[in-house]
Amino acid sequence: MNLFIFILGTVIGSFINVCIYRIPRGESIAYPYSRCPQCGYKIAARDLIPILSFLYLRGKCRRCNAKISMRYPLVEFLTGAMFFLAFIKLGFSLDFLSAVTLISSLIVSAFTDLEYQIIPDKVVLTTAVIGLLLNILIHGKDVLYYLMGSVLGGGTIFLIAAFSQGGMGGGDIKLFAAVGLFLGMRLTLLSLLLSFILGATAGIILIVLKLKGIKDAIPFGPFIALGSIASLFAGDKIISWYFLKYAHI
Ligand SMILES: [Zn+2]
Repeated sequence: MNLFIFILGTVIGSFINVCIYRIPRGESIAYPYSRCPQCGYKIAARDLIPILSFLYLRGKCRRCNAKISMRYPLVEFLTGAMFFLAFIKLGFSLDFLSAVTLISSLIVSAFTDLEYQIIPDKVVLTTAVIGLLLNILIHGKDVLYYLMGSVLGGGTIFLIAAFSQGGMGGGDIKLFAAVGLFLGMRLTLLSLLLSFILGATAGIILIVLKLKGIKDAIPFGPFIALGSIASLFAGDKIISWYFLKYAHI
């Protein structure tokens, strides 16, 4: 069963790749054929097997030999691995459905932000709607706690964006508001902290290595994704570790 969930994840990952490529271009994600962006070759079903196709084609288009981005197998593997971990932690449940929904949209957002500096409204809005519905189903009356998580996540980034002028944008605000619906107040607060710590650390490393200047904007989406996924999987452990170590409760 675990293997099946991993494979299911890589198939979803393959669809996530389609989303990452097409949504920022305004193309339909439902239109059936994938084509090589170089030569227009209609990619056959046998070349669309997640991860494996990339390996046996050695990362090149079957017809024109154009290089296929490493992003494709990477996203497929990442999605498979996350689905697998979520299944181990949650089993078949609405919580599992909620977790993989959040994970999938965070992966789309992280990569569209990295490649195009865009977190598409379509993705965030769909995520928020599903998040709200699932949380009403799972938590019933306690849904308020998750709505407050949404206000906390979106509101904090909104304030930072308003006062820092640049750096963070509308996409980041909306994405964190959507994350809040899935994680609730406590874990959203942790996600905010983790995202800032990870983003700042990466920023300092990039500047020290002279890969970026002090004034360059670094997309924040990938750090929202990292911080939120860490909170989703290990949030409670991280919080109790922190309090054991530093607060002596
Ligand atoms: Zn080609």
